[in-house]
Amino acid sequence: MRTLTLRRDQTAQGPLILVNPSHPLRPAPPPELTAPDSRFPDILLERRTAGLLTACIRAAGGTEDIVPVSGWRSRGEQQSIWDSAWANRGEDFTCRYVALPGCSEHQTGLAIDLGKRAERVDFLCPDFPDQGGCGAFRRLAARYGFILRYRKEKEAVTGIGAEPWHFRYVGVPHAALMEERGLCLEEYGGFLRTGPKRRVLSNGRRVEVFWLACPGESVEVELPEGCCQISGDNDGGFILTVWEAPA
Ligand SMILES: [Zn+2]
Repeated sequence: MRTLTLRRDQTAQGPLILVNPSHPLRPAPPPELTAPDSRFPDILLERRTAGLLTACIRAAGGTEDIVPVSGWRSRGEQQSIWDSAWANRGEDFTCRYVALPGCSEHQTGLAIDLGKRAERVDFLCPDFPDQGGCGAFRRLAARYGFILRYRKEKEAVTGIGAEPWHFRYVGVPHAALMEERGLCLEEYGGFLRTGPKRRVLSNGRRVEVFWLACPGESVEVELPEGCCQISGDNDGGFILTVWEAPA
């Protein structure tokens, strides 16, 4: 076992942070960004997210069919998107489909809007159907650690209209648990707080996921040797993922 000290400010960092109007982004080091698709050099994502997105699109046979529409945004860009949506499409549309500046997942580099390739692609609400490469991507996404973030049946929980085009990277074990239990990210933290969760992944590796509160300035945790990931939840704690060593 090894003991780690985790600081409170680190709860604002990592692939599992919850970002919504009641959980705004807090100061954190900027993500390391790269373009997932060299045909669209201005659309950037956090490096690991970009690599997995490309791999998933390839596996889905969607390279020709799928285009990235919007990835990482600075706070300033989110503000100008909000302002122009408000001016051109009105308050109802803006509140339904555009996140408040400071509260957008796009500012993390972990979220991507995807569209079906076409002459004209709507920047805010791109078409991303269930058929062809888009549908194949949707069905494979969780295996690469992505969740469809804003589902119709979760509108009351997320406060955001259904967005069939917006995918968020959370990591493979978490996407699998959320998909299997029908949970959105807002609900996932509460689910983990009920106790550690174990799962066998599709590659046969066992994984344990647990939540750790950080009520003070820091918290100590004992972890087994081996592969482990620590992410803040942006909600007062950490989500720890421990992969059992291969036999
Ligand atoms: Zn989006």
